[in-house]
Amino acid sequence: MKKINIAIDGFSSTGKSTLARQLADKLGYTYVDSGAMYRAITFYFIQHHIDLHSNNDVAEALNQIHLTFQDNIICLNGMPIESEIRGMEISSKVSEVAALEAVRIFAVRQQQMMGAQKGVVMDGRDIGTTVFPDAELKIFLTANESVRSQRRYDELKDKQSDISLEDIQSNLKHRDHIDSTREHSPLRKAHDAVELDNTHYSMSEQLDIAYQWAMECINRTN
Ligand code: C5P
Repeated sequence: MKKINIAIDGFSSTGKSTLARQLADKLGYTYVDSGAMYRAITFYFIQHHIDLHSNNDVAEALNQIHLTFQDNIICLNGMPIESEIRGMEISSKVSEVAALEAVRIFAVRQQQMMGAQKGVVMDGRDIGTTVFPDAELKIFLTANESVRSQRRYDELKDKQSDISLEDIQSNLKHRDHIDSTREHSPLRKAHDAVELDNTHYSMSEQLDIAYQWAMECINRTN
């Protein structure tokens, strides 16, 4: 059975990672959270006080960064850093870092290598447009803005007690704005992507729809 690549893109907190992980599990495919890579790079840049305006500093820092996934957990130079990258400090800086051309070249190259053998479900912002323009299935996820903020708030409030719904709303707006207006591979729905608005769907309903689309593509490919 030939495998396909599946790209899942969309604005922040539309539930891309949940869908991508569940779909990969159901198909026996590899899941790749491309956003975790940009978050890990941002974590390194903050720790090392990298000046984002200095191309030299950015290039040297990228040379020191080795990213891997172990059981879906992002590792920076061998160290798992999942909990470190999910807080507001990283969320408030990641879009500026991800807008840098050198950072995008660095991350996209690795993402393309991960998908070279097919059988990958990857979620992000530019997967269907830039990373896997030939992906057999491209899904563009959308959801109503207040539903997205509430979902992210519910996810974070136990870990970060000082966080407010307003903070989350303004962070999502800030990231969506930078992600969709940046010069290098901005967030766009690929012309051949299918849109899935999950505002009124449960996780299992959206998984059923995506799985059906995936099986149709797999059957067409074989
Ligand atoms: O998916 P997540 O919200 O964790 O992504 C964090 C940030 O990483 C996004 O807001 C965006 O700035 C950047 N990103 C990107 N391209 C991707 C995935 C994420 O620019 N493919």
